[in-house]
Amino acid sequence: MLRKRKFALVAFPDQTMIDRIASFGASIFSEITALAVRHGAVNLGQGFPDFDTPAAVREAACRAISEGRNQYAVSHGELPLRHAVAAHARRFYDHAVDPDGGVCVTAGASEALWCTMFAFVEPGDEVIVFEPSFDVYLPNIQMAGGTVVPVTLHAPDFRFDPDELRAAFTSKTKLILINTPHNPCGTVFREDELSLIRDLCIEHDVLAVCDEVYEHIVFDDNRHIRLATMSGMHDRCITISSGGKTFSSTGWKCGWAIGDESLITCVRRVHQFTVFASSTPFQHAVAEGLAAPDSFYADLHNDYSRRRDLLVGILRDTPIPFRIPEGSYFIAADISGITDMDGAAFCRYLIEHHGIATIPMQAFYVREHIGRSLIRIAFCKKEETLEMARDRFRAFTEHYRRTSAVGT
Ligand code: PMP
Ligand code: GLN
Repeated sequence: MLRKRKFALVAFPDQTMIDRIASFGASIFSEITALAVRHGAVNLGQGFPDFDTPAAVREAACRAISEGRNQYAVSHGELPLRHAVAAHARRFYDHAVDPDGGVCVTAGASEALWCTMFAFVEPGDEVIVFEPSFDVYLPNIQMAGGTVVPVTLHAPDFRFDPDELRAAFTSKTKLILINTPHNPCGTVFREDELSLIRDLCIEHDVLAVCDEVYEHIVFDDNRHIRLATMSGMHDRCITISSGGKTFSSTGWKCGWAIGDESLITCVRRVHQFTVFASSTPFQHAVAEGLAAPDSFYADLHNDYSRRRDLLVGILRDTPIPFRIPEGSYFIAADISGITDMDGAAFCRYLIEHHGIATIPMQAFYVREHIGRSLIRIAFCKKEETLEMARDRFRAFTEHYRRTSAVGT
């Protein structure tokens, strides 16, 4: 059972809740966004772009609606999207995916994660999760009846200890959940790290689920490697992604799970009785988007490199130490050197006193104390939003230097 989050930022009235959900609390993203709106804060919290979806992809969605693609989609996904997902996998990773049997289109990566957990995890099964981890993983595993076995990505560089990973595998391990590029740490798993994961999965007969929603947001010399393409992984790896990050369309919730037919058949079984099908016109639009020329993907990379460098420059002028991310659109920062507050208290302080919203990383840990002093700052924002944040971080820094304190 997850513990009730002690740092909930927004009070909710008492409600009668069954045990399965009583420990969940509210999503940290909803909490922070609500607080940010209330205080007029610059929102570098919830990870959604404040700039629009590329025009060609928006137009493709409008066209799909005008052409009458408005009824239920094929349950496991419209044919053009399944073909586009398979072609994209081949184009970027030389990953062979069967568009007929090997793809399940879902309502965002979130639904793909849900269906995958429910397809494979039974009560008594252990699921290895790197912590911190995206906030839906733990409740999903828990609702499926599984037991979370956390392996820490250690600050400041947020990598795992190979011995700790080896020790996490037991006879009860059913599945390991990997997220690369990583939210919230910005880690891109290296080939040696993925090779060890591969070897352990094979040795212990364990499935791997790879959440790759930030697959096209990778910086510098780092390279996104698809675990599913490593030898021995084809029939034990499910890869999950979505159009939300690549096409700055998080509100479309168009995602997918891909893998060997033997695995995807199980995911489809859950999906058909979860939402049956996801939104039809957006599937057609994302299918067109995935086929965009190389220049689109290069621009995405360059734009995000610029945004990252902008936020890095802003944070360098503050007293807050942080880690330069290798991928994703988040920066993880450590406040332990500047305040005794925990991340939740500091994030509230930053919103209320300085008009900047960020996310306390405690929300992403099974063992909250490990992430007590970490916060996540998003840079999927317009330059002008980040410049506004620069002014506010400057005021924060001046206050800190003047008073040598935070929160006074
Ligand atoms: N996985 C990770 C790591 C995420 O950050 C997110 C949030 N966008 C998701 C999955 C969910 O993606 P979607 O919005 O496509 O459901
Ligand atoms: N993935 C986004 C984040 O990490 C938001 C997800 C959500 O709002 N549930 O901020």
